[in-house]
Amino acid sequence: MIYFDNSATTFVSGGVKARIAELTEDSLSANPGALHKLGNKANDVYESIRKETAGLLGSKPEEIFFTSCATESANTAIKGFMSRNKRAGNAVISTRTEHKATLESLEYLKGLGYEIRYVKVGPDGKPIEESLEEELGKGGVALACFTLVNNETGSVLPFESIAKIIKTKSPSTVIYLDCVQALGKMPIDLSSLGADMCSFSGHKIHSIKGNGVLYVRKGIRIDPLIVGGGQQDGMRSGTQSPVLAGAFLEALKEVSTGIDEGLSNVNEINSYLRKELSDRGAVILSPGDALPYVLNVSFRGFESETMLHCLEIYDIYVSTVSACSAKQKKVSYVLLEMGVDRKTAANAVRLSFSRYNTLDEAKEFIKCVDEIYDQFLVK
Ligand code: PLP
Repeated sequence: MIYFDNSATTFVSGGVKARIAELTEDSLSANPGALHKLGNKANDVYESIRKETAGLLGSKPEEIFFTSCATESANTAIKGFMSRNKRAGNAVISTRTEHKATLESLEYLKGLGYEIRYVKVGPDGKPIEESLEEELGKGGVALACFTLVNNETGSVLPFESIAKIIKTKSPSTVIYLDCVQALGKMPIDLSSLGADMCSFSGHKIHSIKGNGVLYVRKGIRIDPLIVGGGQQDGMRSGTQSPVLAGAFLEALKEVSTGIDEGLSNVNEINSYLRKELSDRGAVILSPGDALPYVLNVSFRGFESETMLHCLEIYDIYVSTVSACSAKQKKVSYVLLEMGVDRKTAANAVRLSFSRYNTLDEAKEFIKCVDEIYDQFLVK
């Protein structure tokens, strides 16, 4: 099997499985909110996981909240900030290339009467600075939402310059940054990054599904999305799970080491595939300076889903960036926003790698692509 769909989700690492087994022992399974000593023990474990997670991300423990996924983190940050800070302004800026977790949260805000302003992106997927300045210049921007690494193309946000423009033009604007596809692939230090709120997802870094993190910088006030027993300082009610938090931490520990080695391995795979696929007439849609963990490619003569299923025959797994609905062929909104023509976008396939993929797998992939062209392309 060749698994090139790591931006969708990753396999669970052996270390994470072992840690889950430890944390599901009876002696650690009490409710962390219980007053008895078993509850205290579970709470101590949970708080030490929170502290260690914060340390690895470069934040304070009280700035870290465990959620069920990055979608929950995004919803909490975006809706929660606007709900709590009604006098901060009526506008939010973002781009149309964000993940749906952000875009749908913004749609929700639009329904409440907020103004959502979209900054244009260039062919490289990066926000155009003049467009950003123009939208900020209109005033009243309470919140700016961006993504550090785009999940469909690997396009990397030049965050330092974007943050500088925001802070110069509109100093009070708070910045939410989706860091899901960046974690473990590039160094992230929240103490110096310059974002006010960030989201992370466990299952993208070899943890299990069901665990995410929301970072909220000290001093930023937001309303909780989930209310109830007041756990996690009232920010996210629901019984805390040392198991899920511990699984996230274990995965984070593993991906926090060897970032450079992982990058150079994936770079080699990506460069090889870029060349071989271009030689075969495929169009590379990921920008040249994208993070090499994602390679978006449009195959000549095959629509996305057809290519996905052809590769599946060879036990190779990738994803489409377009999906068919009954009436209408949907094409990736990210690629269209970057100016890719509809026909090229309709043939786009996303290959996404983990540090554990190998060059041999990439070579096997190319062999299979050649066979697919020989066997299935209608000439
Ligand atoms: N943001 C980005 C960039 C993503 O790629 C994803 C998942 O595909 C998410 C947010 C949502 O993550 P989760 O599956 O943890 O909700």
